[in-house]
Amino acid sequence: MKILVVEDERRLADSLGALLRQKGFAVDVVYDGEAGQQYAALGVYDLLILDVMLPKLDGFTLARQLRASHLGTPILMLTARSGLEDRITGLNAGADYYLPKPFDARELMACVNALLRRQGAQVDALTFGNTALDLSSATLVRGDAAVRLSAKEFEVMRLLMAAGRRNLSKEAILTKVWGFDSEAVENHVEVYIGFLRKKLLSIGSDVRIASIRRLGYHLEVTEDDSETATEIRSL
Ligand code: CA
Repeated sequence: MKILVVEDERRLADSLGALLRQKGFAVDVVYDGEAGQQYAALGVYDLLILDVMLPKLDGFTLARQLRASHLGTPILMLTARSGLEDRITGLNAGADYYLPKPFDARELMACVNALLRRQGAQVDALTFGNTALDLSSATLVRGDAAVRLSAKEFEVMRLLMAAGRRNLSKEAILTKVWGFDSEAVENHVEVYIGFLRKKLLSIGSDVRIASIRRLGYHLEVTEDDSETATEIRSL
């Protein structure tokens, strides 16, 4: 998934770039409207994130020009101008969503994911924290590091990733992965959770499989990206 960020406030632009890369996206960042137009016109992006007030070419005009040239890439507009008039102008110009600054990193990620889903992007990976589970190769990926999972490890990890911070009981995991009729006992689940914890550690993942009173499991991020979030919120 490739995202273009067009934003002239360099600190915000670079924080956005870092946040999105941390979430597994390929990101290009440019700092003015003309560069944005040249990059966007390549047609290689799955999503455009445009600021409104930009040097050389403003975000409204840029969005309008891209839509006039039949570029269908989803556009998320960012701006400090949160008045109704501006939101309407942005949407009329061809933006798909309008996010007023300052925003929270989680809010931004929710918008990004919603826009990519709406576009019908094929889900080929589940992500949590800085880690992705590649569904076609059964591989856990963190940056350049990757580790292959066995069939059962993969099924357990996929359930955990899909549930995220929600608790999954051992029983549920056992039933879904091993089936009702199997001889497997809850101890099997514990063993596989142990394997997965080692593999997550081996690639430097910030994802932790937390257990609640030995009854079930959920995912947590050990060092939350709250630093980036705080930085973006403060801009
Ligand atoms: Ca600006």
